Parts: sequence; C-alpha cells; structure tokens
Amino acid sequence: MREQIGIVVQLQEIEIETDRIKSVLAGVPGRMGSLEAELNNVTQEIEKRKAFVDELRKKYRLYESDYQASLSLHNKSQEKLSAVKNNKEYQSILKEIDDIKAKSSGIEEEMINGLDVIESAEKEVARLKREFLSAEERIIGEKKILIDETEQDKKTLAELVEKWENTAKNISPELMQKFNTVKGLTRGTGIAPVLDSICLGCNMNIPPQMYNELQRFDSIKFCPHCQRIIYWGKE
Ligand SMILES: [Zn+2]
Repeated sequence: MREQIGIVVQLQEIEIETDRIKSVLAGVPGRMGSLEAELNNVTQEIEKRKAFVDELRKKYRLYESDYQASLSLHNKSQEKLSAVKNNKEYQSILKEIDDIKAKSSGIEEEMINGLDVIESAEKEVARLKREFLSAEERIIGEKKILIDETEQDKKTLAELVEKWENTAKNISPELMQKFNTVKGLTRGTGIAPVLDSICLGCNMNIPPQMYNELQRFDSIKFCPHCQRIIYWGKE
C-alpha cells in the first residue's frame, strides 16, 4: 500500500505540473495578442500624428494663397495710385494699401506660427517612429522568446502525458478510480499527506485513531473533512 500511495502522489505531482503548463499555454494567444496590440497602438498614434501634420500643411497652403491674393491686390492698388486724379482718391488708395499691408502681415504671422507648429508636429512623428522601431525590435524579441517557451512547454507536456501513462499503469484500477472520484469531489488534488494530525489538503484535524492507523499503510484512508486520500506524511 505504501508503494501504491507513493505512485498516486507521483501521479498527482505530474497532474499539477501538467495543469500548470496547460494554463501557461492557454495564456499564450492572449500574451501574443497584447504584444501585437502594443505595436498597433504606436502605429495608430503615428498615423494620427501624420494626419495632423497633413492638416497643418493644408492650412498653411491656404494662408499661402491668401497671401498671394493679398499681394496681387497690393500691386493693383499700386497701379491705381499711378493713375490717380485727385488728392481724395490718392488718400483713399493709400488707406486701401495700408489695409492690405496690415492684412498681409497678419497672414505672414500666421504662416510663421504655422511653420513652427508643423515643425514640432513633424518632430513628434519622427520621435514616434523611433519609438515604434525600438518597440518593434523589443516585441519581435519577446515574441520569439514566447514561441520558444511554448515549443518547450508543448514538449514537456507531451513528456508528462507519457510519464503519467507509464506511472498510472502501476496502480490498481480500484485505487485509480478512488483517486479520480476524489479529484472530482475536490475539483483539484485527490491525495494529501497528513502531518501532525493535520490533513494538508484541507488543513483540518484527523481523528487520533485514524492518524495512528495511517502509519501502518495497510488500507486506503480518506480525510473525513475533504474526502481526499490521505497518507502518513512523516517518516
Ligand atoms: Zn482533508
């Protein structure tokens, strides 16, 4: 019986490790997805910033054509000035030219400011592109590690399955059935050691009589509280 119990303990260890690896593997698509999402976020931010630069440039071109229009108005007024007939008309055209000049200088100011804004927006795009490149490099590395680890985990999982099958051959079908039944009840481990009268499956006290009997390893015992198969945990 001692040997049989030892085998069940081994089976449980294999199952715990198997479950751990399965849950790691189940998390792989999510981890892969979040690495890709991280990169997509940077790409989207770059696109957004590029669109902003385009908008600024469009606005700048509008100012440019306004400025050209203002210049040609100015030229026309200058021509009118040379054909002027009286002082009143002369004064009126001078006033017109002043207004045009004021407007032009306002446009010029907007253009200068616009160029500054375009320059800093372009710098931001360049910065994001550098950020993208370093994020891309890092993420490619992380993905590779994840792929390698996944390969290794799959291999280990296959080995564990084989090990489980080989180990399971060595216990009696009754014991296997009891082990499976208990696992179904606890939704987890099916066997637990008892140390100093305490079942380590549920941390409850075992009756003294049962605790004494456990030392003999002559029959399968179950924890009266959690129903796990229990065994003497101290030599
Ligand atoms: Zn218990």
